[in-house]
Amino acid sequence: AERKRRAAAVIEDVESSLATPTALLRSIADAMVTEMERGLRGDIHSQLKMLISYVDNLPTGDEHGLFYALDLGGTNFRVLRVQLGGREKRVVKQQYEEVSIPPHLMVGTSMELFDFIAAALAKFVDTEGEDFHLPEGRLRELGFTFSFPVNQTSISSGTLIKWTKGFSINGTVGEDVVSELSRAMERQGLDMKVTALVNDTVGTLAGGRYMDNDVVAAVILGTGTNAAYVEHANAIPKWTGLLPKSGNMVINTEWGSFKSDKLPLSEYDKAMDFESLNPGEQIYEKMISGMYLGEIVRRILLKLAHDASLFGDVVPSKLEQPFILRTPDMSAMHHDSSHDLKTLGAKLKDIVGVADTSLEVRYITRHICDLVAERGARLAAAGIYSILKKIGRDKVPSSGGKMPRTVVALDGGLYEHYKKFSSCVEATLTDLLGEEASSSVVAKLANDGSGIGAALLAASHSQYG
Ligand code: ADP
Ligand code: MG
Repeated sequence: AERKRRAAAVIEDVESSLATPTALLRSIADAMVTEMERGLRGDIHSQLKMLISYVDNLPTGDEHGLFYALDLGGTNFRVLRVQLGGREKRVVKQQYEEVSIPPHLMVGTSMELFDFIAAALAKFVDTEGEDFHLPEGRLRELGFTFSFPVNQTSISSGTLIKWTKGFSINGTVGEDVVSELSRAMERQGLDMKVTALVNDTVGTLAGGRYMDNDVVAAVILGTGTNAAYVEHANAIPKWTGLLPKSGNMVINTEWGSFKSDKLPLSEYDKAMDFESLNPGEQIYEKMISGMYLGEIVRRILLKLAHDASLFGDVVPSKLEQPFILRTPDMSAMHHDSSHDLKTLGAKLKDIVGVADTSLEVRYITRHICDLVAERGARLAAAGIYSILKKIGRDKVPSSGGKMPRTVVALDGGLYEHYKKFSSCVEATLTDLLGEEASSSVVAKLANDGSGIGAALLAASHSQYG
C-alpha cells in the first residue's frame, strides 16, 4: 500500500508537469509566432533561426530529366535517382537505397563521414540501369538534403551552424557542406554536381507541392523535428536581396531550437537535456521527437523504480542505461491493447530485464508512454498551428469568403509509424483551429517527400536550365 501511494504520487506529479491544456498550447503558439517574426527580422536573440532557403519557386510539374538526391539527417541516409518526365509523364521511374550510418561516424571526423557517404553514392550510381537517361555530355546533378541547421549562401551552398540529433563532428561547423561533399565525391572519382542544398523540411515541402498544389508547409517528425513554410518575400525584413519574381521564399524555421518558459519542462526533461550532447539547445525538439520520447519514458520509469519499487526491491540496472528504451519500443508498448498487455510485458522483459510484471505495473508503464507521447504530439500541433497563424491560414478570412484549402505535408518515422502520436497531432490541430477553419486544413503524409523534393529542386536549378 505504501508502494502504491508513492507510485501514485510520482504519477500525479508527472501528469501535472507534462500537462498541455489547450490554453497553454495557444500561448505557446503565440510565443512561436513572435519568435518567427523576430527570426525574420534577423534578431540574433531569436529562438527561431528562420533560415532563408533560397528556394523561391516550388516544383511546377514541368521538371524533366534524370536527377539524383542524397538525404543525410538521422541514423540512415538515403540515395535516390529519379527520371522525371515533365507535366504528362511525371515520375517515370525512381529507385532508392537506404544505408545506415555506423554510429562511430556520427561522432568521428567530417572527412570520414563524407567519404562514407560519397562511397555509397558512387556505388549506387554504378547500378544505374537502362531506364535512366542522361543526355550526352552532361554531368549528373544532385539535390543534397542535409537535415541540420545551415546558413544558406545560395541554393547550392551553405555553412553548417551546428550539429543536432546525436551528431557531433569536429571541424564541420562553419564549413560549406556542399564543398565537403563535393571533395569527397572527387576522392571517389564520382563526376557529379550538387545543384541544390536543401533542408529535409524544404525537400518535403517541394515534394509535397509536386503532389498537391495546396501544400504550404512541411513538418518533419522523425529523429528530430523541424518545419518549413512558404513566406511572402516582403515579410522577411532580413532579406536584402532582390525580391524574387514569385514574391515568395521558403523559410526553414529550425523550430526544434524553440525554447520558452511556457513549455512544460519537467525534471526529466531537464536532466536529459543536461546530460545530452547539446545541453540547453533544441529544447522543443527534445520534448517532441523520436530520438528523445523513449528516453523520457525511461527516466520516469526509473524514478518510479527508485521511489515506488515499480520493478521490485532492486532497481533493474538496465533501466539505468540512457537511451535503452527506444521510441519504437515505447510505441509498441503504448499500442498494446490486449487484455493482459502481453506485448508490453514482453518488451519490459526484453528491455528492462524484468520477467514478471504485474498487470498494474504494465498499466502504469502504458500510462507513462501515453503522457509523454501526448505531450509531444500536442506541442507539435501547437507548432503547426503557429505556422498557420503566421500565414493567416488559421481562420476564415475576416473579409468574408472561404478559407483556401491548406495542406501541411508531414514526414518522418515518428509521424509515419506511431499512430497514437499522429492521431493526437491531428486531433489537437483540429481542436486549435476550431471547426470551421479545420475543415479547410489537411495534414497529409508525404512519405519520403524530401528525397524526391531534393531531386525536383536539383532539376529546377539545373545548370543546363
Ligand atoms: P530521420 O528523422 O532520421 O531522417 P526518419 O524520418 O526515418 O529518419 O525517422 C526515424 C525516427 O522515427 C526514429 O529515430 C524513431 O525515433 C522514429 N520511429 C521509427 N519507427 C518508429 C515507430 N514504429 N514508432 C515510433 N517511432 C518510430
Ligand atoms: Mg529524414
